[in-house]
Amino acid sequence: MVVKVKAPTWKPNPNIGEGVPTEEELKYRQSLITEFKTVTIKAKKIISSDKLSEEKLEEIDIIILDFKTKLKHLITRTVTTRFNKGFDEVQNRLTESGYSKLNDKDSRKRLNTVLQLQLDNLEDICFQLKNKWRSLIWKQLLVTETIVEKDDKKKKKKKKDTVDYDDECEEDEESEDNEFCGLLYHTQDRLDKTGFAGWIETYKEGLIGAVLLAAPMVDRLRVYWDSVGDESVCITCQEYEENSPYTIIEVPETPHFGCRCSLRVEIE
Ligand SMILES: [Zn+2]
Repeated sequence: MVVKVKAPTWKPNPNIGEGVPTEEELKYRQSLITEFKTVTIKAKKIISSDKLSEEKLEEIDIIILDFKTKLKHLITRTVTTRFNKGFDEVQNRLTESGYSKLNDKDSRKRLNTVLQLQLDNLEDICFQLKNKWRSLIWKQLLVTETIVEKDDKKKKKKKKDTVDYDDECEEDEESEDNEFCGLLYHTQDRLDKTGFAGWIETYKEGLIGAVLLAAPMVDRLRVYWDSVGDESVCITCQEYEENSPYTIIEVPETPHFGCRCSLRVEIE
């Protein structure tokens, strides 16, 4: 059977969603992908080594855990910063207009929900990777037990392509490399989209969180929906912009993944 496999690019996709990502956003998404590249190189090295399967399985578990811990910190730090940025924007607007400070204790719950969603995603990504890589090791074990001679040849061949694995996946070919690559493109894409949501949507969540807290004391508060204003904006987002401003209860939900529209708060 011929299996087509897309190779990962190890770069964030600049065309996710409407408009253009900022340098900062791309830098964050790149840092997620770079960690993924590092763990992939390590996994490839482990799987193609001559170690015992038990050792390989153990090492895969260790590198996945290390990857998860690093990304957990990175995501938590960024999501928290972005959420607070959105929250503070409303807070500052209120302060300028002479309103007292919001009790941001309540917004913590909202932040935790957003963060948990991102971390659940990470958990799932790691689970999939671990299973995939472990299954490749089990497969090697089965091959060793059944066709010993062939396996000897394979091992010799494997030794040649160990460490300098970069971004080459063989297309249209059912090979071991291809099998290893199978999940990589998909995982990179998922991580990249998680990064997008962590950057763009979390910011909006912080803003909305503050708006909801402000609602009981500021009835003149209005929210404007600003699209990025280029041809990538969909009809729905265009309409949301045209129907601005909104009272707090009227603000529409983000209509689609990749929405880069921003919310602007005014006290009228
Ligand atoms: Zn939009």
